Amino acid sequence: MTRPREPVKIVGAGLAGALLAVLLARRGIRVQLLERRPDPRQVKPESGRSINLALASRGLRALEAAGVIGSVRPLLIPMRGRMVHEPGAAPALLPYGQREHEVIYSVGRADLNRVLIEAATAHPGVEVRFGATCTGIDPAGGRLHLRGADGAEREEEAAVVIACDGAGSAVRTALVRAQRMEMREDWLDHDYKELTIPARDGRPVLEPHALHVWPRGGFMLIALPNTDGTFTATLFLPRTGPVSFAALGAPTAVAAFFAREFADAVPLMPALAQEFAQHPQGQLGTVHASPWHLGGRVLLLGDAAHAIVPFHGQGMNAAFEDCTVLDALLADGGDWSTLFMRFSALRRPDTEAIAQMAVENYTEMRDTVRDPGFVRRKALAMALERRFPERFIPRYSMVMFHPEIGYAEALRRGTVQAQILAELDGAHESADSHSAARLVTERLSPLRHYGS
Ligand SMILES: Cc1cc2nc3c(=O)[nH]c(=O)nc-3n(C[C@H](O)[C@H](O)[C@H](O)COP(=O)(O)OP(=O)(O)OC[C@H]3O[C@@H](n4cnc5c(N)ncnc54)[C@H](O)[C@@H]3O)c2cc1C
Repeated sequence: MTRPREPVKIVGAGLAGALLAVLLARRGIRVQLLERRPDPRQVKPESGRSINLALASRGLRALEAAGVIGSVRPLLIPMRGRMVHEPGAAPALLPYGQREHEVIYSVGRADLNRVLIEAATAHPGVEVRFGATCTGIDPAGGRLHLRGADGAEREEEAAVVIACDGAGSAVRTALVRAQRMEMREDWLDHDYKELTIPARDGRPVLEPHALHVWPRGGFMLIALPNTDGTFTATLFLPRTGPVSFAALGAPTAVAAFFAREFADAVPLMPALAQEFAQHPQGQLGTVHASPWHLGGRVLLLGDAAHAIVPFHGQGMNAAFEDCTVLDALLADGGDWSTLFMRFSALRRPDTEAIAQMAVENYTEMRDTVRDPGFVRRKALAMALERRFPERFIPRYSMVMFHPEIGYAEALRRGTVQAQILAELDGAHESADSHSAARLVTERLSPLRHYGS
């Protein structure tokens, strides 16, 4: 790799930007991280913005590659499955996987970001500038427009810019305006709002090793555990319509809605009315940008390139996987232009696949998870995995626990598997049957990376 004389400028010291800075620094590349927010090590994080996240194997692998996993581990709470809360029934755990290590982890966004920034600043080759907002970029690359914390505008030379400035990327916006990139945002017609389930006497009031779901058909409430015994709950609800955020303008409407739909959760949220009124209502969507790079001067990475809806818990994981893919390509050498081109070609099919699976997972979480047929087919899928572990791995497991299988491959095999499950379930055939053996061996090739 040709080392630029100038440091590589990474716009955004969020999750991907900070991790990428560590990986580049480990390869001897100097980095300047430009972040619009103040230093998170010195100020309290804003509330109401996806406070905790589900971390799975793709993200863990990237944190290991960057040598930061030791500092991250104490922040992680394992979640073994979905704890489904149906009205009038005891909560029931649907395990995510069937092996001891097949768990996902709840992690606080602010704590994780702080650890990554600490790791980045520990490298002498990394400089972080907080309060530096990118306001634009020259269409041909080369100059970055910045506004400092004091409001002063300036321009800086930038030989190589990697935009990790999130779903609303200013770098991407400037390049779209200059007609150097195209972008489409598919907004979901559902929004979200975060609420708090506090601890009682320092102890969690729900099972801490699960992701709690109150599926209600068309909308849902979920809750992820935090290390202090609290949970962050998120309501996903249509923006408009009879059951929607728009219909919850009055506090009495909020109270009646929660009492009707989430009766068992209401006593766990003593500040519900106040938080509902005060916390922001967030929008959700999928970003499709093209191209992701301008020669060897600018690259979009993470949410800036491919933000997705959060229902597979994979946005951060995919952004972290971007970092490991770019890092692995760096090892091959070559110029920045070739590197960015190879990165885009490799990653695009995978990020398009996870974008699709993330939207599909919303239907699963809020609706299908309640369907006895879904629970039956999930059990069948697990039985098939036990019988044919080298061929049949449930799609959810491929995405969450098998980073050696790309997202696009998981989507492709998952479609074949769904058909097999439908045929076996429809014919009341078990995983032990001859039909199961025939369908699996005929339609699913052995996994190349099995056992790796
Ligand atoms: C409700 C919700 C729940 C989610 N849950 C999960 C989950 O469970 N698991 C999962 O894997 N993913 C989840 N995600 C997705 C995840 O949050 C993102 O995919 C991830 O944060 C992407 O990382 P990033 O570094 O690309 O962007 P970000 O984390 O958004 O970081 C962007 C950084 O750039 C900075 N920045 C922005 N603009 C500028 C500018 N103009 N100049 C300088 N700096 C700038 C920002 O301040 C920020 O620090 C969720 C998202 C939402 C909305």
